[in-house]
Amino acid sequence: MPLRCIGPDGQFIQSFDLPEAEWLALRQENRRSRQLRMPCCDSAAAVKTSNRGLKFFAHKSRGPCQSAPETEVHLALKTLAAQAAQRAGWRCSTEASGSSPSGETWTADVLAYKGEAKVAIEIQWSPQTTEESLYRQERYRQSGVRCLWLFRRSGFPASKDFPAARVSGDVTTGFKAHLGGQEMPIEEFLDAVFAKRFRYGIPLGAKAVVRIRGTLMGIEELTPMSIFIEISAGTLRFCFRGRDPRDFPDLLASGDGRILKALSIRRINPRYRSLTIIEEAPLTEFETTICEHWVKAIEAAHHPDNCGWSVVELE
Ligand SMILES: [Zn+2]
Repeated sequence: MPLRCIGPDGQFIQSFDLPEAEWLALRQENRRSRQLRMPCCDSAAAVKTSNRGLKFFAHKSRGPCQSAPETEVHLALKTLAAQAAQRAGWRCSTEASGSSPSGETWTADVLAYKGEAKVAIEIQWSPQTTEESLYRQERYRQSGVRCLWLFRRSGFPASKDFPAARVSGDVTTGFKAHLGGQEMPIEEFLDAVFAKRFRYGIPLGAKAVVRIRGTLMGIEELTPMSIFIEISAGTLRFCFRGRDPRDFPDLLASGDGRILKALSIRRINPRYRSLTIIEEAPLTEFETTICEHWVKAIEAAHHPDNCGWSVVELE
């Protein structure tokens, strides 16, 4: 079930390029003239719409063509990826072939172009070994193509050179991307990809929310102890624990003194002059931008590989 066929003048026609009315007109016209052909084997193509409204081309009769039939999930995800690329102003084609400088050929599910930049999106619904994944990624790299992978199963080799996300769902309920324990609609994820908000590692310049909790303890004044600092930036979350504000020198340097203020000693009404303990007290919450100080603090407390790929909001 490809999203592309060959038109009467040898041009490619892509289903996701056509508004509803043009799609119906193409179907009418093809019923009469039978001039659309399949890109895989040049046999006659039929213009089809699935029960759930997905537009695609199919062999009028299967014949000797060996190309594997595609599932509706694959077709739907390709359409969503192509539409996201187009929303972001990229040109794109599906089932797009190319070759590396050493002559190895590939076919991308979706290939988006903007100026010199080329981005492939591969939808991997069937199992694929790590070896095969890395081999295919290297072939794209040598061909000057950045490739994003959407996997149904976890356990793929995500790294700086291998942008990937796990995707769940189906054609009826819609699809979700999963990142760092959070999920978001696939459309939102793909928009973030094309807006360069899908980042690897600690996202310098990303919007973040800081929340600080701690135990307050004392008689005449309450001292924050057992401090817990949490910073969330998009799908990322970092946590810091310490006994004392001095445990976080890099964080104290950031946040315009707000952290220092939150961790300062509180005087209490002398009427209640007895030992007071307030556990897990919210001390402050504020919005910030991940600056160099945050990066340093996060790097000191977390292994950089733990950050992986995330979707963030930028200032
Ligand atoms: Zn064919």
